[in-house]
Amino acid sequence: MKNVSAEQGGAHAAPTQGKLGLVEMQSMRSRAQQYFAREGEDPLSQAFERKTVVHAGMSGRPLRDEARDEAMERLLGEPRQGQSAAYFHIPFCETHCLYCGFYAAAYKRDWSAAYVDALLEDMRRDRDLPAVCSKPIHAVYLGGGTPTAFEAGDLRRLLLGIRKYLPLANDCEITVEGRVFRFDPEKIRACIEGGANRFSIGVQTFNTDIRQQLGRVCSRDEVCEVLDNLLRTDSAAVIIDLIYGLPGQGEQEWAEDLRVLEQMGLDGCDLYQLNVFPGGRLDKALQCGEVPPVADVPGQGRLFRQGVEFLRGRRYRRLSISHWGRTTRERNIYNPLMKRRADCLAFGSGAGGSLRGHFYFLESDVKKYMAAREQGRRPVAMIMEPPANAGLVRVLTGQLESGALDLARTRQETGVDVDGLYAPLLQQWQRAGLLRRDGDWIELTLAGQFWQVNITQALIDWHTQNAMEI
Ligand code: SF4
Repeated sequence: MKNVSAEQGGAHAAPTQGKLGLVEMQSMRSRAQQYFAREGEDPLSQAFERKTVVHAGMSGRPLRDEARDEAMERLLGEPRQGQSAAYFHIPFCETHCLYCGFYAAAYKRDWSAAYVDALLEDMRRDRDLPAVCSKPIHAVYLGGGTPTAFEAGDLRRLLLGIRKYLPLANDCEITVEGRVFRFDPEKIRACIEGGANRFSIGVQTFNTDIRQQLGRVCSRDEVCEVLDNLLRTDSAAVIIDLIYGLPGQGEQEWAEDLRVLEQMGLDGCDLYQLNVFPGGRLDKALQCGEVPPVADVPGQGRLFRQGVEFLRGRRYRRLSISHWGRTTRERNIYNPLMKRRADCLAFGSGAGGSLRGHFYFLESDVKKYMAAREQGRRPVAMIMEPPANAGLVRVLTGQLESGALDLARTRQETGVDVDGLYAPLLQQWQRAGLLRRDGDWIELTLAGQFWQVNITQALIDWHTQNAMEI
């Protein structure tokens, strides 16, 4: 779920050509009304009407089909730059959770060995390419879908293969994402033996009734048992995702989730806001009254504040707007690299990678993906050329993800006169209670953190619009 492609796909639609047309320019002008926050209201609940995007991001120009294969070979023929990562997408799930916009394919046991064989073969084939072998890889992420759906022996084979074929840094973070359903002690052992040193488990809520109405199978006790098994290995960081604003989840239920989180003694956690995808299964279930209502925007703001105050009070370390660490075992290497748009090798159906500022996406239909490989073709579905402002976007998204922006550094790294460019926005947002300014430092207030994606996307769009008007 923390895939580059997922972020880009859900984040920000890409314009189809380098120069924007009249309609797009008009639509950007009307979006200018959304740049400025409401003043004189409670900024946490009312600064903006709604979140404008799920993840702030850049647009880009997709390469024509006929240019794609050559471009991919060129990118793979050049060394990676900077700290980088490798992402493996396991697109299968055993059930389809009601709220999820990333479900791709039903898991069948036969897929486990065949799919791992394909990933191992791809790594073996590419191991000597400069983009693969040139430099150490600092973070590996097995995401999905549900990597932990795979059989124990295949999980072990995949992880050992990653360590054999990719030049991992000595202290490489190796994350296995998953859920507790069928994540038994044998699979946990296989992951540890394979070299996993971090587990990111999608719990979402400990509340059994809310879990089960969302299609999560296990009860609270079963969730806690699997987390205990992971912690008892004493060999990997164990972090979980929790979502606030779920159907039927009020401040009391959220307080109980936070209490169990603390009681478990985990290494860290992510607190995410629920996204209801328009036209998705949860949206339809809400409209038919099949599930209790979800929190509105002010309600989500209150739950956000409750989560922040709870974790601050327990001295968790803030690693990003949504991510918190409790122990030093949680290093959180992969996620910030992705926010900074670092180079990332992609493997597997539906995976998204990034090389030299180009995003690339592998075929998301598993059968087409496997067929392309069998025909000796790389299953690349799309390559996006970086937009002109890619450097600025990288610096803004990377910094604001941590809740602060260093204008001096941004100026130095991008050559953009950020003071002059952003003065109208920064002054207005300061008046509206979204940020504090101390010299060159901009720090988001609690309300600014809640609206961080709007703020980041507004800064990106403002720059794009101004560049067009010059
Ligand atoms: S297991 Fe994860 S990816 Fe699969 S449907 Fe549920 S939330 Fe989505």
